[in-house]
Amino acid sequence: MIFGGNKVECPRCLGKGVVEKEDIIRLDRVLHWAPDSCAYCQGQGKVSTEMVEMVPPGLSYLSTNLPFYEREALIKGDPAAWERAEYDELVAQLYIDEIIFLHRHDLSNEQIVSFFQLRSSLSPQEESREELEVYVQRVIEHLTV
Ligand SMILES: [Zn+2]
Repeated sequence: MIFGGNKVECPRCLGKGVVEKEDIIRLDRVLHWAPDSCAYCQGQGKVSTEMVEMVPPGLSYLSTNLPFYEREALIKGDPAAWERAEYDELVAQLYIDEIIFLHRHDLSNEQIVSFFQLRSSLSPQEESREELEVYVQRVIEHLTV
């Protein structure tokens, strides 16, 4: 056996080792992901069958920033890790919903960015104004497609 063990093609990147625009569309993660190396298979293109059974390919929490021990905990089905994954998804969705809410209340993209900046000055976040602008723009564009 060439790859050893029970390895199958990565369901997130389809074996390419990188997540591209079409993968993001296929997995319905347009507002969540940007093209990057594949966190699911860690760029290997192959993953264990155990992983495929446990972890949905579209799980945003499984990102390139996720520490190794947390990744392992997800694959082993650790309830606390899965709870964190669920909250992570909720927080990301809430963020998108807030942008849409503010947009529907006639705030301009500029004003929406200012709103998030004002709030993050109360609880500091890492995004720059430029990153926020790009993201707000993406959400609004996706909404009007
Ligand atoms: Zn992959």
